[in-house]
Amino acid sequence: MTTTPTRPSKAVSEFLATSHGMMIDGDLDVPARSGRVMEIVDPATEEIIATVPDGDAGDVDQAVAAARNAWETRRWTSLAPARRAELMWRLADLIERDATLLAELDTVDVGTPIGQTPVNPAAAARTLRYYAGWCTKIFGTVNPVGEGLLGYTERDSVGVVAGIGAWNSPLVIAASKSGPALAAGNTVVLKPAEQAPLSTLWFGRLALEAGIPPGVINVVLGVGSVVGPALVEHPSVALVTFTGSVPVGQDIHRRANAGLKDVVLELGGKSPNIIFRDADIAKAAASTVKQMRSNAAQVCYTGSRVLVHSSVAAEFVAETSRLLARTRIGAGLSPSTDLGPVVSRRQQERVRGYVEGALREGAELAYGGRAPDGPGYFVGPTLLTSVTNEMTVMREEVFGPVIGVLEFDDEAEAVSVANATPYGLAAGVWTRDVARAHRVARAIRAGTVWINTYGILDRSAPSGGYGVSGLGREHGEAWLNHFTEHKSVYVDLTEEH
Ligand code: NAD
Repeated sequence: MTTTPTRPSKAVSEFLATSHGMMIDGDLDVPARSGRVMEIVDPATEEIIATVPDGDAGDVDQAVAAARNAWETRRWTSLAPARRAELMWRLADLIERDATLLAELDTVDVGTPIGQTPVNPAAAARTLRYYAGWCTKIFGTVNPVGEGLLGYTERDSVGVVAGIGAWNSPLVIAASKSGPALAAGNTVVLKPAEQAPLSTLWFGRLALEAGIPPGVINVVLGVGSVVGPALVEHPSVALVTFTGSVPVGQDIHRRANAGLKDVVLELGGKSPNIIFRDADIAKAAASTVKQMRSNAAQVCYTGSRVLVHSSVAAEFVAETSRLLARTRIGAGLSPSTDLGPVVSRRQQERVRGYVEGALREGAELAYGGRAPDGPGYFVGPTLLTSVTNEMTVMREEVFGPVIGVLEFDDEAEAVSVANATPYGLAAGVWTRDVARAHRVARAIRAGTVWINTYGILDRSAPSGGYGVSGLGREHGEAWLNHFTEHKSVYVDLTEEH
């Protein structure tokens, strides 16, 4: 266990020390109209590393007006699709150029270990390239409307897209919300989470450097409960795409509904990870430990309910505990760290509260990792046994390195318990029996199912949740539908009389 923080690199220190503004209409240094600022805290040291504007509804107005103006003047929309694709590729290239800095920003902002954050710029660049490819492939149809008529459809942009994101993976979320919006000719207002806005600010900078015109991507900052509703309800916002918690998703849904605007919601999960008796137990245990370490399990699709066949439960728990004991907990900037802090004091108290509650409800600590006392919002990795699917810790999203192990005796029981949740984001199935793997994948009510692996996401495939885990799907071709209007045109082909 190490708590020794390593200092940020010179490039990151210099960026942290600069004054940070919102990005509106190409201006990178826009303060909140009120003059208020918020402090950004490094979760590993509890030190204030930057201050950023604390915006409100007036700032949202300004950002949306800039995005709306950029869209109405067709600054982006009128560019040839191939040109838009070129600029999006250039943005992806710049993200790769600055990958080290961007990874480090997510580390000091979110707490994610530096060994894990390089996937963020890589994923952001991949996302932009995937959607850049769509710029030249979004087109309408010619429709069989009958003799004497020509009927065709055009795909129009929708206008201003609001992208509101969670703090756990800010750069990836910024790229995910922007990619399809840009491909379809829209303009964007990003609202990163107040806990971790820094990599989104750098993303905005790079968009300008890439040559994406001012006003096409804007970044507004502020407390979610103030800035969020103002953005969602703004009459000039056409589509809201949101990644975050269920209660906020529900609030956004209500407000967007009232304005009859489209909304895509990527929310939380309580995902089952089912391990059958014929599974590769060592691989399943290693995957479980990887999930607990990955961003301290502050990942929406973490398999936080492990369902394991009773005949191999002891072996699984022993192997998982053995690997957990080797976990190096510490500051994210230390290259040897496997498990960093959670994002905030509030989150630390929440996660610890779930563990204490579970023990009170009768759970046992199969493995309870010690965490450094602080400074830093550390939580030890925790493996709970003797849990039931009805316990609070198994019903609610913990968003921390806490996993409960449930035992089952047959496939039907496993499927039934796996589906006994209001969530439905993801699931894992571990077995060497091909028919069983597919049968269970089909029976599970979840947006993504992994077989003998966990956590792979590709932009070509839709991702999202059943039940309260979300509404609509991100990624893949279908997501683009939300970013375009379909317009039908009818032409009279008959001769003039
Ligand atoms: P959160 O819902 O508290 O906040 C998310 C964003 O919404 C932030 O930017 C916040 O400022 C903003 N917000 C807060 N109140 C708002 C309001 N009333 N109106 C509009 N916006 C508002 O979530 P969080 O704590 O930042 O993130 C953790 C949650 O995100 C977890 O539940 C996790 O599962 C979920 N998540 C889901 C996915 C997915 O793809 N399904 C991915 C990452 C995170």
